[in-house]
Parts: sequence; structure tokens; C-alpha cells
Amino acid sequence: MTQLTPSPSSSSASDSAFCAIPQVHSLREAWLLAAIEAVRPLFLAKQHHIPPCQVSVGFASSGNRLGHIGQCWSTGSSTESVNQIFISPTLSTAYEVLDTLVHELVHAVDDCKHKHGKEFKKIALGLGMKGPMRSAGAGPELKAKLEALLPQLGPYPHASLSVPMKKSVRRNRPRAQCKTCGFQVPMLKKFLAFGPPICPQDKVEMEAVGDWENV
Ligand SMILES: [Zn+2]
Ligand SMILES: [Zn+2]
Repeated sequence: MTQLTPSPSSSSASDSAFCAIPQVHSLREAWLLAAIEAVRPLFLAKQHHIPPCQVSVGFASSGNRLGHIGQCWSTGSSTESVNQIFISPTLSTAYEVLDTLVHELVHAVDDCKHKHGKEFKKIALGLGMKGPMRSAGAGPELKAKLEALLPQLGPYPHASLSVPMKKSVRRNRPRAQCKTCGFQVPMLKKFLAFGPPICPQDKVEMEAVGDWENV
């Protein structure tokens, strides 16, 4: 076995001092990749290996509707077999982003196999996360560790995107219902003029229910 002799560039006290100098990232992805490296030791301390990940700012596949602030895709979803993480552009502070990133990295460690199930929970709690697993974030101890990493990451080069939340107006959607068996179908606006359809089971005209007038 060859003994590794420390090269002049290997870590020393002066190196760690160098690391403390805030880096200025002009690209959000560069910041996010640096953030992954910054939190990697926290995962390693619990024997979790963060896999290679791509990380970008972008909406979750559900858009902004469900209030998802991050999303991680499994290696199986990528033709390159690499986890891909998206951090919502609605987040603004570096801390929120880091906290969300850690949550998504837990999914990456699990390769999104168990959603927010007990395997996810085990990793999350081990790292010091808390709260309902769907939205688990750093508990007080982990929060302090994450906050301590912020200076070395420098400012998050992003200004929060303000996305108008569509008020979900619960309209009484037009549908048709069979009086005999109760079978229901939603109606498309453009076909309302056709009138209610025939029940496939009872072959009788169904009843118009909901708002057929004001759509
Ligand atoms: Zn999650
Ligand atoms: Zn029927």
C-alpha cells in the first residue's frame, strides 16, 4: 500500500481559512452545487452518500399550485441516471433555499424510492430534520449548522419570483348524473349544448347537475 504524502495543496489550517472567504456565485446553479458540497459532510457524518445530482431553479411538475418549493427526480427518470433537483423560484432567502435543498437531497439519497415514508423519515430525522415529512425542514440543531454554512456560500444570486396564486374558486362544475344508478360524468363546457348524455348502464338520459348556466 502506498503511503499518501500530503501534497502542498492538501488541506491545512490556512486552507480552511481560505474556505471561509465568501464565494460570489453569479449563477444560481453554481451556488446550489456549492451548497451540495457544503452540506455533504453533514450527510456523510450519518453515513449517507449524496449521489451525483443536477440542481436548478425551476417549478415542481405540479407548478406553484400545491405550494411545492422543491422537487427531486429519481435516477430512473433521467436518461443519464442522475437525480435532478429543482428549487422553486419563489424562494428568496439563502437559508430557505438551503433548507429546501437538504430536504430534496434526502430524496436523492433515497433515490425517491420511498417518497416521505419511513425510510425517508429515518434519514431526515437522523440529519436533524423535523416536522411533517412532506414539508420536513431543519430542526434547531441542523438549522444552526446550515446557517453556519451560509457565509461561505455567499449571497444566493436570485430575487424571488412573485407568482400570483390562483384562487381556487370552487365552482359547482357541470356534470351529469344517472337517476337510476348514480353514475356521474363531468361535462365539457363546449358540449353542454348537447344536453346530458345517456347512462351507459341504464340507457336513460342522465340529469344535469351542477352549474350548467354560468360556465
Ligand atoms: Zn419531499
Ligand atoms: Zn344509470
